[in-house]
Amino acid sequence: MNITADCVVIGSGMGGGMTALALARRGLDVLLVERGERLRREPQNWSPEAVFLKRRYKPAETWLDGRGREYKPGVHYVVGGSTKVYGASLPRFRESDFEATEHDDGLSPAWPFRYADLEPYYAAAEAQLNVHGTTGQDPTEPWRSGPYPFPAMEHEPYVADLAERLRAQGVSPAANAMGVDLRPGGLCIRCGTCDGFPCLLGAKSDAETCAVDPALATGNLRLLTGVRIDRLETDPSGARVVAAVGVGDEGEVRITAAKFVVSAGAVNSAALLLRSADGKHPAGLANSSGRVGRNYMMHNNAHIAAFDATRRNDVVFQKTLSVNDWYHDGGDGKPGGVMQLVGKVQGSMMRLEAPYAPRFALDGFAARSVEWLVMSEDLPSPDNRVTLDASGRIVTQRTALGVAAHRRTMRTAKRLLHRVGYQIIGTQWFGIEMNSHMCGTVVAGEDPSRSVLDGHCRAHDVENLWVIDGGFFPSSAAMNPALTIAAQALRVVAESDLAA
Ligand SMILES: Cc1cc2nc3c(=O)[nH]c(=O)nc-3n(C[C@H](O)[C@H](O)[C@H](O)COP(=O)(O)OP(=O)(O)OC[C@H]3O[C@@H](n4cnc5c(N)ncnc54)[C@H](O)[C@@H]3O)c2cc1C
Repeated sequence: MNITADCVVIGSGMGGGMTALALARRGLDVLLVERGERLRREPQNWSPEAVFLKRRYKPAETWLDGRGREYKPGVHYVVGGSTKVYGASLPRFRESDFEATEHDDGLSPAWPFRYADLEPYYAAAEAQLNVHGTTGQDPTEPWRSGPYPFPAMEHEPYVADLAERLRAQGVSPAANAMGVDLRPGGLCIRCGTCDGFPCLLGAKSDAETCAVDPALATGNLRLLTGVRIDRLETDPSGARVVAAVGVGDEGEVRITAAKFVVSAGAVNSAALLLRSADGKHPAGLANSSGRVGRNYMMHNNAHIAAFDATRRNDVVFQKTLSVNDWYHDGGDGKPGGVMQLVGKVQGSMMRLEAPYAPRFALDGFAARSVEWLVMSEDLPSPDNRVTLDASGRIVTQRTALGVAAHRRTMRTAKRLLHRVGYQIIGTQWFGIEMNSHMCGTVVAGEDPSRSVLDGHCRAHDVENLWVIDGGFFPSSAAMNPALTIAAQALRVVAESDLAA
């Protein structure tokens, strides 16, 4: 099959979906190529057994870690990418995240643009993603040019009471910025199956709902599903991409276009560039710096389940509150991290961690526990990298950096939870397979010898190639990444030659 378009975007997650929307709104003829299909709306969307235990929406694919051990990565090959199951927590990064910042374990590098450069696009992305939030509660929040599009989600009584107990301990519980459709007449019913689950109602602000479908409605976008792009081919000079070549049900697919955007997610985008090595780009496409695949980050993350035998937790939509007080200073003048409520964990979901515990015991624990994500910045290292083995299989090598700050944040969080009344605190540290916040594999920067992309995500080495997904992040910050990916996609289309 041969197809042509003005612009081809590869991957329909947050980066690709938002890029396609912005390009289509400018009248370009855009082809969005996605290896997966649309995720079906079906009863299993909301089944913990189907989603978590049977991994219904994850691919069978395995990757290798640095020691050659197989693992099942946290990726989702469907229209909308990982946003189909994400928790829709959509905070902005802080001003300091764009500046060089000293951490316990080293330097978090500066970005090639500042918070002020991204601010208008944060506002536009929040509007597109129906973000609900409020200001004035979080001492670390960045300045903003206008209010949130919609007021913050209200806490349910258990969470409101928890916020009071936390406040009495001297911290500043703040409303999470959430992307759900609670507009007047909106579709969200505040169910307990949002974070980690696909939305059966289409009420979550995922990239399919808020970017791909509105882009199709412009009439300028064609969506090609079930086609995996395996390599990009360049012209004889190596300066321009001429074709994206992949495979679908009917065999080889060859797409020619004037401009190419890779948005396959941080690991797959790096892998695609490495697979596209040719005579002019022997180490991989756009890789004269040798940085493609390096600086792989995914946050230092852990879950906490805090149990109070005296207090029943009957919350349905739990993910409405964060404590960010230690973001800039974790206790020694260096950045710490955040703690953020996650979707209410059900007993059946604990099976993975406690396979031999009887169900009634898990249900009893879940009825009196509250669950948090504790997240700290993962520093970039050239040794943490994505490579391909001899058969072309993805290998991710990673030794976490920034662990000292994460341990300290965990200790502080656990002490705080004990003080507000929880007797038992269980923790689960994320391993290499829990890579939902992956980023940093094709970093943006000003110096072509030390970065792959410029500040507008265009490859330094290839004039008609952009990479717009979590891969461009020079540092990981300690905030959820999706809103920053969306904002940068809008900025690139508005300010670079991509839409020219
Ligand atoms: C359970 C979970 C909870 C999360 N919660 C949050 C949250 O609350 N807040 C937040 O900010 N972030 C959250 N995230 C992370 C967020 O979903 C990601 O940061 C975001 O989706 C990354 O966008 P992306 O464009 O980089 O990649 P993706 O969204 O992963 O999109 C990549 C797309 O490219 C496609 N693709 C890959 N390779 C190819 C190929 N070769 N050819 C064609 N198509 C290809 C994939 O199928 C996919 O659709 C969560 C993630 C998970 C898994």
